Amino acid sequence: MKILVINSGSSSIKYKCFEMPEGHVLASGLCEKIGEPTGRLTRHVGDRDTVTEREFPDHSAALEAVLAGLTGEGGVFERLDEIGGVGHRVVHGGEAYSGSVLIDDDVIAAVRDNIPLAPLHNPPNLLGLEVGRKLLPGVPQVGVFDTAFHQNMPASAYLYALPYELYQEHRVRRYGFHGTSHAYVSKRAARMLGKQPEDLRIITCHLGNGASIAAIKGGRSVDTSMGFTPLEGLVMGTRPGDMDAAIVLFLQDHLGMSAKDVGTLLNKKSGLLGLTGRTNDMREIEAAAANGDERARLAIEVYCHRVKKHIGASTAVLGGVDALVFTAGVGENSSLIRKTCVEGLEALGFTMDLTRNETAPRGVETDVAAADSRVRILVIPTDEEVAIAEETYAVIQK
Ligand code: AMP
Repeated sequence: MKILVINSGSSSIKYKCFEMPEGHVLASGLCEKIGEPTGRLTRHVGDRDTVTEREFPDHSAALEAVLAGLTGEGGVFERLDEIGGVGHRVVHGGEAYSGSVLIDDDVIAAVRDNIPLAPLHNPPNLLGLEVGRKLLPGVPQVGVFDTAFHQNMPASAYLYALPYELYQEHRVRRYGFHGTSHAYVSKRAARMLGKQPEDLRIITCHLGNGASIAAIKGGRSVDTSMGFTPLEGLVMGTRPGDMDAAIVLFLQDHLGMSAKDVGTLLNKKSGLLGLTGRTNDMREIEAAAANGDERARLAIEVYCHRVKKHIGASTAVLGGVDALVFTAGVGENSSLIRKTCVEGLEALGFTMDLTRNETAPRGVETDVAAADSRVRILVIPTDEEVAIAEETYAVIQK
């Protein structure tokens, strides 16, 4: 069965088409700058890339072009009705969904209801759902939520110590994100270790431009570093992660910033970008630090200190750990960050083999723990698209 996976952003649609259940990639690509005169559709089929530059006035026009590319000249199948299902990445499913679901009017309404909880992500995700249904009527569409994997967290982990009515009336609580990635790499970790997820306690560190940690017990997320929104937790590319909420009051009361300004500062100008004052790209930060740039060195220290603290917290929540997983752009590729994050955690059972860590091949699942480490330390490439395709296939088979 051919499954099309769609990740619809505010000005882009990323897609990947799979033959399932084998998981073979048939085609992938990105339509970007939707709504601008300089739109661009990049398509990859096999080792061939095709770029089309023209205006895509809206998401409907962009998806239409994606579908035409799949079936037209140089496409990968003949007719659109060969597509057996569409899997959509949806960031916020709120409390309604602890798994993936077939999209119907109720799901669309729930995604819309959750817009206040994910104002940057849910509106473009919703657009993707709507144009998917419009252009591929009759094809089952499945919503795969970033929040779903964390919906089993206990109340002790998801409640903030705020007046309880804020939770009851406004659903102010911790939700957690990157669930598709945490679930995927934890399953891969179990497979690497030759064990069932049910028998393992795993900490997964998704360190990309966005970053979060999950504590996973018996295959279920029992705590995670992101909260009500993707702002909480680790230091990220442009977000600060954990901080004293009184800073927000200070910015407003003493520096006269509006709520909108504070939102921009916290979402777009903080994190690694804020600390270095010039970049959120960890490759550039590592290179600058190696050349003696003090702010870059500090940014790496703050970043790794925070990850280490959350590894410690997750260890306590789990009551012991069998495996620690590093994934996403930074986690998969930076031996320096991995090393710095676990340095000094030997007493807790995390002992890295520094040579294995340094020489871990890119894109390959690798155990970088020392032979006598109590905890296995694994580098596992994440693949959110294949995880969404697997979820979509499973929901349709049901
Ligand atoms: P992601 O959001 O998963 O695509 O990750 C993006 C982040 O990964 C960016 O901050 C990149 O700088 C970082 N990244 C990618 N490759 C490397 C690398 N070789 N070393 C350090 N960071 C990297």
